[in-house]
Amino acid sequence: MLLLIPGPVTTRPEVRAALAQDLAPWDNDFRAVVAGLRERVLAIGEGDPDLHAALPLQGCGHFAVEASVRSFLPPGGRLLLPMTGAYAQRLARLAREAGRIVVELAVPPASKVDPALVSAALAADPSISHLGLVYSETGSGIAHDAPALAAAAGRLGRRVLLDAVSGFGALPLDLSTRPEIDAVVFTANKCLESVAGVAFVLARTDRLVPGQAGSWSLDLADIHNHALRHGWGSFRFTPPPQILAALSVALDLFDAEGGQPARLARYVANARTLHDGVRRLGLDPMLPAAVQGPVVMNVHAPADPAWDLQCFVDALKRRGVLISNFSSTPEPSFRIGCIGAITPDDMAAAVAALDAALTEIGVRHRAGAPAAD
Ligand SMILES: *Cc1c(COP(=O)(O)O)cnc(C)c1O
Repeated sequence: MLLLIPGPVTTRPEVRAALAQDLAPWDNDFRAVVAGLRERVLAIGEGDPDLHAALPLQGCGHFAVEASVRSFLPPGGRLLLPMTGAYAQRLARLAREAGRIVVELAVPPASKVDPALVSAALAADPSISHLGLVYSETGSGIAHDAPALAAAAGRLGRRVLLDAVSGFGALPLDLSTRPEIDAVVFTANKCLESVAGVAFVLARTDRLVPGQAGSWSLDLADIHNHALRHGWGSFRFTPPPQILAALSVALDLFDAEGGQPARLARYVANARTLHDGVRRLGLDPMLPAAVQGPVVMNVHAPADPAWDLQCFVDALKRRGVLISNFSSTPEPSFRIGCIGAITPDDMAAAVAALDAALTEIGVRHRAGAPAAD
């Protein structure tokens, strides 16, 4: 089965094999794996071990996004948030429910966030301490220029929280040149091509304020202090050891492939194959190729009375391709992930399956807008 969702992704058999073992979290062999993971993910983000630490958190990406908001912004602190789509809305909700103030910045549809607009909004409100950013917005499929946007905030003395969950490991990131970034959030199960169950924050440890999070579970300062006291191989509460062992294997494969540039190149090729393929089938991608990112593609739902997303998903599944049975766009759509242990050949096979599935469910008019005649 090809899992073509924007996480969890298709994994390699070696990664799944690493799950099939019993492990003790405090065992010295296992502690070395955890300490190694921290070093390796910090290196992928080009963090400086004197300034940054990789802080793992059990669970999903949203937990680590919330932990970052709570740990770096004080209660009542103000966060500028470009409203790029569904995942920016999630970040806004997490921050508001944690008692932080979100200042929304409107972003025109199908366009990248303009650094000049971010600068203007920050300059107009000196009480905003942080810029929040979704690097690859899963709701639209656009990969925003996070380094340039962070630099714009940095020039005005503001700091940055980066939701890099769907892009880390594929999209470029060099923390050594971006001192304004407080936190980079990601999980094991997207571009690192492992399984779900653990998230990480690459954090500026000198800016962590003990107790500020207002949540023991989500306090990055406490996670950092625990590591300082008990070692980089330790975990505060029970970790998912099989998930961490699988991630270690996934990082071996990441290195063997050639690291971030090679991974990005493969995903770009996947996305291009998919984009050309769906257009050949008469479907309408929601974004022009020029702004389409390499992580996920949203396609307009065909304007045909026979269209039914769940029927389509089921017909595709019978052909060995599994996609999301929901969309995260304002208009009806379906989405296909371009990330995971898949190649352009897999994408070409998926395009053929899309064609056959549409025919099977009786969709004749494939374009997103009603036929002109
Ligand atoms: C997947 C994703 C997350 C985290 O999702 P979880 O379901 O909490 O793991 C956060 N931000 C973006 C942009 C994502 O794509």
